[in-house]
Amino acid sequence: MKRKGILIIISGFSGAGKGTIVRKLIESNLFSLSVSATTRKARVGEKEAEHYYFLEREEFERMIENDELIEWANYCDNYYGTPKKYVNEKLKNGNDVILEIEMHGALQVREKFPDSLLVFVTAPTANEIKHRLIHRGTETIEVIKKRLEKSYQEIDAIDDYDYIVVNDGLEDSVAHIHAIIIAEHERVARNKDLKKKLKREFEELLKGDY
Ligand code: 5GP
Repeated sequence: MKRKGILIIISGFSGAGKGTIVRKLIESNLFSLSVSATTRKARVGEKEAEHYYFLEREEFERMIENDELIEWANYCDNYYGTPKKYVNEKLKNGNDVILEIEMHGALQVREKFPDSLLVFVTAPTANEIKHRLIHRGTETIEVIKKRLEKSYQEIDAIDDYDYIVVNDGLEDSVAHIHAIIIAEHERVARNKDLKKKLKREFEELLKGDY
């Protein structure tokens, strides 16, 4: 019986380390990663079509108009969005697909794909998040402050997620998320076809002689 792919959404505070966790999960070759489109400028070392599709605002707005995105959001003055095509193709082929997206997008996805799995990643303390952002050195202090304020505004919406993972060590966090995904595949609600198949098999079996 063909396994159904799960749409896995990983969100988290900026600086919580979700990007590194997601990269590790992808290295396992068990999951497909959706590459988002954004109007944010590429950071040093970021590559087109690998980290993001880096677009001009007009190009992004055209994608919205043409209904080419599953979801999109404006985050700290830039657009971010998930192209539809890749996700739909992968799910259709039974692959688990990871989206690393912020909350507004995550909630839009849940509306369209009610059985998607929502995981939120945080660092153990607010102070740790601030230090990680400063240490990363990719954003100015103003942008860091904006991202911390944004994180504070997001706290209540964590209730809409299925799981919260405290990233206190990369290997553990990756293992925990992996375990969550394995368990998710074994949910009774996701295995209705298996139940039907077993029922049919039992009915056949019980018709026969012993
Ligand atoms: P960053 O600029 O640090 O790469 O990303 C900023 C935020 O945008 C992060 O929380 C990241 O998860 C989120 N993000 C990245 N891609 C997407 C997307 O396609 N849609 C949405 N809604 N958020 C995204």
